[in-house]
Amino acid sequence: MTQRRRLVAGNWKMNGLRAARAEFDAMLSGAADIADCELMIAPSFLLVADFAAAAKGGKVAVGAQDCHAKASGAHTGDVSAEMLADAGASAIIVGHSERRTDHGETDETVKAKAEAAWRAGLTAIICVGETEGERDAGQALSVVERQIAGSVPEGATAANTVIAYEPVWAIGTGRTPTIADIKEIHDAMHAQLVARFGGEGEGMRLLYGGSVKPGNAAEIFAVENVDGGLVGGASLKAEDFLAIARA
Ligand code: PEP
Repeated sequence: MTQRRRLVAGNWKMNGLRAARAEFDAMLSGAADIADCELMIAPSFLLVADFAAAAKGGKVAVGAQDCHAKASGAHTGDVSAEMLADAGASAIIVGHSERRTDHGETDETVKAKAEAAWRAGLTAIICVGETEGERDAGQALSVVERQIAGSVPEGATAANTVIAYEPVWAIGTGRTPTIADIKEIHDAMHAQLVARFGGEGEGMRLLYGGSVKPGNAAEIFAVENVDGGLVGGASLKAEDFLAIARA
């Protein structure tokens, strides 16, 4: 079995003013002795360059939460993957459910954004996950499989792509699926990626996201085919984020 390196990525969403650099600095110094886990924080676009400069040589990489599919052009208010690479980002989260819902992003849009991340030399962290209604209707697995089929471009490799399973109803709610439910979805995602991408799919990391906290991270990360987490609220504080990384 391929050994996949654990990744804990923090999504700061629309949180954090420039003064939040102090919290990020605390993460950098607290992470100095963490060896068995990659760490990443995705702050707002405005903080990427400053955080990336501070993170040079450190154990916490800096990512972004979205990008436009095009490299440049007449797209008011948008930010390209090339701009994010230039600012020092190493990865871009694409297809987060808040983008799919708030901005009407489809699997096609997400796929184009993942390709944009690669074009700029960055890793794409592609998010998928069912709504509560879909889970209640017994459609969780089929929704996730459909989103992976539609959002993950041809050309995905273990190095350029990470998949994050984030059930929409678990994000920011304090609720999580059962361990058995997480295992079922992660096993199925892994099998789907291996069937489509062979050895590259075997090595592709699968993160769980949705109300991961210091108190539940160890149990979730122990599940086979869970290679770490995408963490929202609990990534805003160095103490919680580092506790999750050590779980
Ligand atoms: C997220 O939005 O990516 C997320 C996982 O949020 P939270 O950890 O706050 O549920």
